[in-house]
Amino acid sequence: MDIKITNITSESFEWERPGIWNGMHFYGPGRMHKVTISTDQGIEGIGWNGGTAAVRPNEFYRPYVEYYKSFLIGQNPLETEKLTLDLGEKQNKILGSAGLHTQVLAALMIACWDIKGKVKGQSIHTLLGGAQKRVRAYIAGGYYAKNKGLKELQDELLYNVNELNATAVKIKIGDPQAGLATDMKRVAAARAAIGDHIDLLVDANCAFDLPTALAYAKEMENYDVYWFEEPLAIHDFKSHKTLNAGTRLTIATGENYYTLADFETLLENKGASMLNVDATICPGYDVALSVAKLALEKGLKIAPHGCQELQLPLVAAVPNGELLEYYPPEVDELRKELFYPKLKLDSDGYVTVPDTPGIGFELNMDLLNRYRVG
Ligand SMILES: [Mg+2]
Repeated sequence: MDIKITNITSESFEWERPGIWNGMHFYGPGRMHKVTISTDQGIEGIGWNGGTAAVRPNEFYRPYVEYYKSFLIGQNPLETEKLTLDLGEKQNKILGSAGLHTQVLAALMIACWDIKGKVKGQSIHTLLGGAQKRVRAYIAGGYYAKNKGLKELQDELLYNVNELNATAVKIKIGDPQAGLATDMKRVAAARAAIGDHIDLLVDANCAFDLPTALAYAKEMENYDVYWFEEPLAIHDFKSHKTLNAGTRLTIATGENYYTLADFETLLENKGASMLNVDATICPGYDVALSVAKLALEKGLKIAPHGCQELQLPLVAAVPNGELLEYYPPEVDELRKELFYPKLKLDSDGYVTVPDTPGIGFELNMDLLNRYRVG
């Protein structure tokens, strides 16, 4: 189809929410950056950065949008693979190999995929492969917070199981103020609260060195932990290899890898067996799908990290899509009103993929416009 990009806009939003933290980062206000791509055929696509617990600096996004805009105007938005290469790998010398600009490129490529879906009258999920109609979700959470003790942690997990229908929940470890003994009390309390039939996932957000990660892994083997996520600095592939060989736990990582090459290196080192690829980091569905296919070749599974409305089309597109990360109101009270339609877990803990053309979700602009900052 002859279709050309005619304009791109960038909008930023910010709202207050209670502070939470993990092993490495404190998260304050909620933020969202939206890009809209217009075409000469009257079809618009949207993409965004945000919708998770993380706080990223909105002010850096717009200049990168302006930079990419000069390349994208006049281009065919359906040629996402070519555009991802031209604005990604081929810009390494100018922009650097990965970073915030890659996240902007991800939002732009997601907007192009949204256009592709609307042009073809199909969901991105279907265009990517459409292997599964429903996929099991786990609830992100279990963060550290002020005045949050073991009882509050347990209450949160029980809410996730009993009210949100979750069959899998995640907690954070790795706060340097906590340490191994305190964190293991968190893991024990979590397991005690949810019982033996709910999966317990544990995430260190890259907080550990190898000896610490090995010590945690040894202890956590006693609690039937479903996976140990981001134990180590992401590019310390050698330590991943040693850890993965030295524990019975499933090692998960990948939410901060920007390229297929990162995942290839990880797997060459046998550094993990669950890949938390994120289509808003990677950048976009083309690269994320190539990671999912690499995992499939190796007999491994993916469980994407990040904004569930954007990752659902990916995880459900492939047969090795294992779990969807789901950010609940506990992490951000506003987010439950941020998207149409509202994505909820069914009674069995699975979510169903919408089959509307494009992403399948829209942003609630009536709400977001109240929090516009740029
Ligand atoms: Mg994580």
